[in-house]
Amino acid sequence: MKKPLHVLKFGGTSVGTIERIKMVAERVVQIKESGINLVVVVSAMSGETNRLMSLAKEIDAVPDARELDVLLSAGEQVSMSLLSMTLNNMGYKASSLTGGQAGIYTDNLHNDATIRNIKTDSINELLSDDQIVIVAGFQGINENGDITTLGRGGSDTTAVAIAGALQADECQIFTDVDGIYTCDPRIVGDAKKLNIIDFPNMEEMARKGAKVLHLPCVVEAKGKSIPLRVRSSFSEDSGTLVKGSECLHGVCGIAIQKDLVFIHVDKLEFDGLVKQCRLLGIQVWTVIEDTNRQGVVVKQESFDKIALVFGDKIRNSEQVSSLTCVGSKAEGIVQHSTEILSENAIEIFASTTGQQFSMLLLKLEVVERAANIIHETFIVARDLVEKQDKLAVI
Ligand code: ASP
Ligand code: MG
Repeated sequence: MKKPLHVLKFGGTSVGTIERIKMVAERVVQIKESGINLVVVVSAMSGETNRLMSLAKEIDAVPDARELDVLLSAGEQVSMSLLSMTLNNMGYKASSLTGGQAGIYTDNLHNDATIRNIKTDSINELLSDDQIVIVAGFQGINENGDITTLGRGGSDTTAVAIAGALQADECQIFTDVDGIYTCDPRIVGDAKKLNIIDFPNMEEMARKGAKVLHLPCVVEAKGKSIPLRVRSSFSEDSGTLVKGSECLHGVCGIAIQKDLVFIHVDKLEFDGLVKQCRLLGIQVWTVIEDTNRQGVVVKQESFDKIALVFGDKIRNSEQVSSLTCVGSKAEGIVQHSTEILSENAIEIFASTTGQQFSMLLLKLEVVERAANIIHETFIVARDLVEKQDKLAVI
């Protein structure tokens, strides 16, 4: 009988030291010994991508995009070879592959490339030799053979794309938290782990800044109906299963995005600014257009790029953070959340809603306090009410 195939992905903290790489290897071997073929995708050792990035920025605030990819892709190559060596040392056949060697082809958008297709021949050849295949996350090559990277956090996307291309039986994302939470537990102590979350809600959470899974990874997994399991490398907990195409939760969680900048422009310049963002491939977080101000909100890193070409037309810029409630009923709570925050003397800069979310823009200093209040009101308290309702029915 054909052995099942699993794709596992280990994040930066999981491979952050030699000790931890050895722990990952133990886990990989345990799964391999249970009769499962494995492709293992790894991130760079924790802190490494940031370190490489700051080296580049010491030379140029906006480094050449192609060269930056050559540099950043090195981080994953360090961890893939160290893991492969560890497995070899333990007596297992393993080989590491860069994105290019693994046949991962992307478009040409350096620093934020999208995987176009994967030629699986080299991975399949190693698998048929019963090897454990280790692949560098976050990278591929374009049609010229130049190295590209997939945007920060991109290794998750590598794992899902490989799982899709190989029609793997399972894709597990090992990280330093034990699953998807209703809010970042470092900010909201009461945040709860979800055992299961549907793809539409997971996608919206990732889109609005929840960091556990890379957005393109969720989009890809959703599109190909590949269930994902997000779990901790450091425990046996079964984590969170991301599965299902129907939006089930009313308000399932709160996503926080710091490091945003509101760029104010004069009314006449607004269209030009939006166009410039599009030309530069910059994602507009949200648009603010009311009687006395207009502009766009973008991530800090994008702001630096815009400032370079549009700087003279920017009237003012302000640091902001967004707090977004996600779920099928989230749109309807914006009024209530605005009122609650005002009662707590938290100023709201602007708000927007969409089919499955309500977003508040706040000053960085207050966003964590606001997250706790909103979480308490719409997730903890609601959950209690629902539980009581259920008990009442019984
Ligand atoms: N090493 C890359 C980063 O830090 C990609 C990843 O870890 O997923 O963003
Ligand atoms: Mg990540």
